[in-house]
Amino acid sequence: MGGLAMLAQTVTRPVLAGEHRPIKPGRDSVLIVVDVQNCFTAGGTLAIKDGEEVVPIINRVGKAFENVVMTQDWHPRGHASFASSHPGKKPFESVQLSYGKQVLWPDHCIQGTTDAALRTDLDLPQAELIVRKGYHREVDSYSAFMEADRRTSTGLAAYLNVHGIRDVFVVGLATDFCVANTAIDARAAGFDVYVIEDATRAVDLNGSLAQAWTDMRKAGVKRIQSTDLVLPA
Ligand SMILES: [Zn+2]
Repeated sequence: MGGLAMLAQTVTRPVLAGEHRPIKPGRDSVLIVVDVQNCFTAGGTLAIKDGEEVVPIINRVGKAFENVVMTQDWHPRGHASFASSHPGKKPFESVQLSYGKQVLWPDHCIQGTTDAALRTDLDLPQAELIVRKGYHREVDSYSAFMEADRRTSTGLAAYLNVHGIRDVFVVGLATDFCVANTAIDARAAGFDVYVIEDATRAVDLNGSLAQAWTDMRKAGVKRIQSTDLVLPA
């Protein structure tokens, strides 16, 4: 892989249709690690199937990035996204809230709990910012950029712009909810956006994964694999 990457950097050759050129993150790139928390992995309150499998891949990919931002789902008790806050409703049903349709979840990622903590096996010591989201009781936030009311900004776009970031790479959990919403909002904020598919895992509720990829493609999000990146040896 290292040899191939060097060849790609030093040899000019025509790019054939369908051929992938290795992608080398630069100083103007950021890796956004979405919600790699105990709650979304084995033993958590909203465990995503094989969610923990993303950790070693993210650790490997992370070595290519000088800029790393992590997000943390961070709900108060009684949050509007919890089925338990809506009498008669069960997890994975939907409800209409002031800002539109909201999927209901089991109670998860409650502020200050071990369940809400980031996975301790994440090895990203250079991570410079943790964006907590979903902390307003009445509003959920799948996206790291914009809460579900579509009006309340997290401030992340401004932060990335101030730091000269142009390319955003998104990994984490879950592909079809917080990863997809983060990637689409990053496009809306004017960044070039890549989702590293093998460093994500999905909920896939009623076809939500296929829909998420359709929505991301329409928004101009690029779908890549970790093997498409030039990683340090
Ligand atoms: Zn949540």
